[in-house]
Amino acid sequence: MSEPRQQTLAASVTLEGVGTHTGKAARLTLGPAEPGTGRRFRRVDLDGSPEIPAHIDHVVATELGTTLGLDETRVATVEHVLAALAALDVDNALLELDGPETPIMDGSFLPFVDAIERVGVVEQDEPARVIEVLGPVQVADKSGPSYVATPSDGLRISATIDFEHPAIGRLFGSYVAHGERFAEELAPARTFGFRADAEALRARGLALGSSLDNAVILDDDGVMNPDGLRFPDEFIRHKVGDIVGDLALTGARIQGHIVAERPSHAGNMALARTLADHALYNGGQPIVDASQIMQHLPHRYPMLLVDRITGYEKGKRIVGIKNVTINEPFFQGHYPGHPIMPGVLIIEAMAQVGGLLLMDQIEDPESKVVYFMSLDNVKWRRPVTPGDQIVFELELVQFRRHVCRLKGVGRVDGKVAAEAELMARIMDR
Ligand SMILES: [Zn+2]
Repeated sequence: MSEPRQQTLAASVTLEGVGTHTGKAARLTLGPAEPGTGRRFRRVDLDGSPEIPAHIDHVVATELGTTLGLDETRVATVEHVLAALAALDVDNALLELDGPETPIMDGSFLPFVDAIERVGVVEQDEPARVIEVLGPVQVADKSGPSYVATPSDGLRISATIDFEHPAIGRLFGSYVAHGERFAEELAPARTFGFRADAEALRARGLALGSSLDNAVILDDDGVMNPDGLRFPDEFIRHKVGDIVGDLALTGARIQGHIVAERPSHAGNMALARTLADHALYNGGQPIVDASQIMQHLPHRYPMLLVDRITGYEKGKRIVGIKNVTINEPFFQGHYPGHPIMPGVLIIEAMAQVGGLLLMDQIEDPESKVVYFMSLDNVKWRRPVTPGDQIVFELELVQFRRHVCRLKGVGRVDGKVAAEAELMARIMDR
């Protein structure tokens, strides 16, 4: 089977409507973009037309929709247009918007699907990024949503939702969330809300544009919309569509079967993050093991703090694992009876993973050594304790002469434990 190629739109197409939260007119133009650029929003109403990549790293809010932000710029309710683009394999697109929110249209994904199908898509000369689920991946949150992803040929999503409202109740559905099947079975499903919540939302300046024209609205008697529902289980279909839109923020096509229990935008985002990590983490399979690491790093016990390298893109990105056990020498004194990995050693482990990425960038690495010069924006988000596995992901931000900048994050169970920006110099030994 030949590798799938990236795709973009064949031409530009414009949609006009209102923002569901602002209630103001909104105009969105979907247009072609170069291979490798992904899907990007551009705020054409602001000075300098700032852009925000549609990527999980830029998600700033997940209440009542997914909001992207970069510096001061915001774009709200991105999930419906992104679902349509992702479902139709439009990997690269420029999304020009004249305000802080996309137009809600009829509250479904269909107007975006129709617009894309009207202009058509074209193949580009680069392989598409695909995240293939290799083994079971789990995401659970105490607050409710939980997800399991397992291997599958295409993207299938099964979901359960549970609302106390008698018109909804407990619903289950399982769908092929891609291509024509998405367009027919999921795209027409509209967003929904409860009349009882409307006043409180409006008081907070939200849902100002929401109406029976762009949402299914429920009151105590049931569905208020005069024409009723488009599917008897329209609610679950919309939630599945939202998952497609939120997973689009991985920037990759997903191949797997997602089983979601009470999905939410916040939960979808945790799933997106975990799947993105999973792709680099390579199912935990080593691509470089401890003995090979020792050939490339001068560190030895007790200061060698990398066990495996599981993901690697030359000159770009590296993923390494540190398994933390109760036998680590530092736990004896940090602290007796209350073992916590010292924060500076977490950063040291991160730096060692980064060192491996840098060593591969230079000629004659045996005669060189990496000195770290500065750390910025170091944050420890949660303690690391015996039994934890830290997955470090480092990205090479800049490599100029012999000075390089790296951005690193260490996660335990998909949750950020520490992050830092590191600057290093490569010196002769
Ligand atoms: Zn939605």
